[in-house]
Amino acid sequence: MEDSTRRSFGVQLAALSAAQMLPGCAQTRLPSRPRAGWEPAYLLLYRSGELERRVAAFSAMYRSCRLCPRRCGVDRKTGERGICRGTARVRIAASHPHFGEERTLVGRYGSGTIFFSRCSLLCEFCQNWEINHRGDGLDTRDEDLAGTMIDLQSRGCHNINLVTPSHYAPNIVAAVAAAIPRGLRIPLVWNCGGYESLEAVKLLDGIVDIYLPDFKYSDGRTAAKFSRGAVDYPEVAAAAIEEMHRQVGDLVTDEDGIALRGLLIRHLVLPDNLAGTDRFVRWVATSLGQNTCVNIMGQYRPEHRAHKYPEISRRTTKKEHAQATAWARDAGIRVLN
Ligand code: SF4
Repeated sequence: MEDSTRRSFGVQLAALSAAQMLPGCAQTRLPSRPRAGWEPAYLLLYRSGELERRVAAFSAMYRSCRLCPRRCGVDRKTGERGICRGTARVRIAASHPHFGEERTLVGRYGSGTIFFSRCSLLCEFCQNWEINHRGDGLDTRDEDLAGTMIDLQSRGCHNINLVTPSHYAPNIVAAVAAAIPRGLRIPLVWNCGGYESLEAVKLLDGIVDIYLPDFKYSDGRTAAKFSRGAVDYPEVAAAAIEEMHRQVGDLVTDEDGIALRGLLIRHLVLPDNLAGTDRFVRWVATSLGQNTCVNIMGQYRPEHRAHKYPEISRRTTKKEHAQATAWARDAGIRVLN
């Protein structure tokens, strides 16, 4: 099913004279919102009946949770909680049109952002620790999550931007299935930390149009220190992102520069190159290709428990960000600006 989904979508793209590969990552004209002939991949899965099967497959993963690489094995349907502390009832912190994301996601009317509570990676420097660590938010029914998606679309948002979604993938996919008959037809953005279960990412094939993963660390010891023992982060994230790229390819926009489909990787520069940016950009160029879009982010500031660690207790300097960007350009990959 996955391959046929990809082929069908390829035919759509080929027929779409409006759609174009990004020559750079910085197309910023305002949208006229045409998108004639384009539709999100999940509609194909819905019509074929495959989406319902995915809903069931994801739901079964809650019984012995392996939705992320922590593989806690807890039965979340009975209320057991693993490292992320989430149950089988999705918890949402906020939802609204967001204008602070990449311009290709924001356009004129904003990115329809839904912030999910809790997280499985739990970084010591988390900027949203009240949501991700403390779990601030409201338990929400899947039908109401579907309603939120429809509301964001009706407000003109260009996409549904699912922030830290992975530990609630079953609810999200069920909500998408419920929202489609109600008219959902804008792309889904899977805005995740990169520490993803390959099994879960494969189940998202044909559901997600835009993958927006972080790549946080090139070194496992650094990942373990700052992200709750996730020593396998570099390998796990690389495998997950390669699968994402296989599914959706390089970033594609409409004629107004609004993202329709593809991969965009975020990389936060850490002080003293703790994120291993030079290694990361070389991996992107060799494993994913030089058409891959990357956002090299320089806004690191010490939050949450970062002050406990001298290495990350200061902001990244402009010079460090410039050096990281230069490494990316030297590697030949497409750098968002
Ligand atoms: S999603 Fe949560 S409960 Fe499931 S494996 Fe990951 S951390 Fe554990």
